[in-house]
Amino acid sequence: MSYLNKKTLQDIDVDQKIVFVRCDFNVPLDNGTIADDKRIIESLKTLKYLVEKKAKIIACSHLGRPKDGFDMEFSLKPVADRLAKLIDTKVIMSSDVIGEDTFKKINNLNPGEILLLENIRFHKEEKKNDREFAKKLASMADIYVNDAFGTSHRAHASTAGIAEFLPAVSGFLIEKEISFMGEALANPKRPFVAILGGSKVSDKISVIENLLDKVDTLIIGGGMAYTFNKSKGYKIGTSICEDDKIDLAKSLLKKAAEKGVKILLPVDNMVGDDFNPNCNAKLVDSDKIPDEYTGLDIGAKTQEIFAEEISHAKTVIWNGPMGVAEWDRFAIGTISIAQALSDNKDCVSIIGGGDSAAAVEKLGFADKMDHISTGGGASLEFLEGKVLPGIAALMNK
Ligand code: ADP
Ligand code: MG
Repeated sequence: MSYLNKKTLQDIDVDQKIVFVRCDFNVPLDNGTIADDKRIIESLKTLKYLVEKKAKIIACSHLGRPKDGFDMEFSLKPVADRLAKLIDTKVIMSSDVIGEDTFKKINNLNPGEILLLENIRFHKEEKKNDREFAKKLASMADIYVNDAFGTSHRAHASTAGIAEFLPAVSGFLIEKEISFMGEALANPKRPFVAILGGSKVSDKISVIENLLDKVDTLIIGGGMAYTFNKSKGYKIGTSICEDDKIDLAKSLLKKAAEKGVKILLPVDNMVGDDFNPNCNAKLVDSDKIPDEYTGLDIGAKTQEIFAEEISHAKTVIWNGPMGVAEWDRFAIGTISIAQALSDNKDCVSIIGGGDSAAAVEKLGFADKMDHISTGGGASLEFLEGKVLPGIAALMNK
């Protein structure tokens, strides 16, 4: 599923129309204040465009996981306040989702103004994708725009159900996600290299299987590499390993060989005598990890081999850190990959996955990447080739 055929905001006339925009304002809150407003910033391109086009904008989002009914702790009020500071138009907050306050405020909305609805998950019908509820949401507007990429893998009323009742297009954020990840999956410039890491093979089986049909090279690092190396008969000490996935790892390696996909696994590792940032660490070859040691990062030779492969790639999709990148001592392998990607100016670099995106940002490489997906779970499902209901529901070109 590459979704390159989906209509976007640019394919529809929004002038003076009432436009329902599903945003992803699911920001981290710290005692009621927004700890990181990246998601609000990412939505500005679409909202500013609609303001400029004099649309009457109904913005909608969820925040956290409230139980059914209003709960101040999950109110979108802080988002309304922050949005008002970031955009040059009036932002009005509604005290409900579908109710008198909302209807009254829509009636009084001027072109180019934004009405932010309260947390859509205050209604249990949202997650149930209740058809009547979706129809009611749709009845408030002329056009539906989905720009909540991070929630597009969920079939909820405001992400998918509503699209049945209105002309439905993507906003600019979803368009960007599709154009990078969809293009890479459908028409990659080659060599196409995927780098997979993170802790567990089981989290990434479908990603590996889907990418094996598309990539030229698959680089495997991070915790999941140890299951693969064990399947080759290597001693992996106490490194993280899923023993019930060893046969699968073996068959994936075989499948890759049959398809002519080159697989690179770590040949050396930084290992520690404890799973602890202050452990005693040493560098050892992948087939000689001492019994009492655990693999925490890829080693220097591996970094060089991976970097060499990346240096002549034309498309790279990267999901999952190369080691325990939360700990500075074991972020070196992840940094080396980010550096290799930054050094290759001739390559489209795409980062998918929540922890990978966080690592790239924390390590200071964010502006060197072509695309950092805003949806952890959604980007994984995109890479798995799964249907994303919130995007599938949009009109085709
Ligand atoms: P993403 O969110 O980008 O998809 P994952 O959630 O799959 O990535 O993996 C990230 C996690 O993998 C991090 O918490 C990291 O500490 C862990 N990890 C990476 N390498 C190892 C390792 N060698 N041993 C244990 N955990 C690891
Ligand atoms: Mg993760």
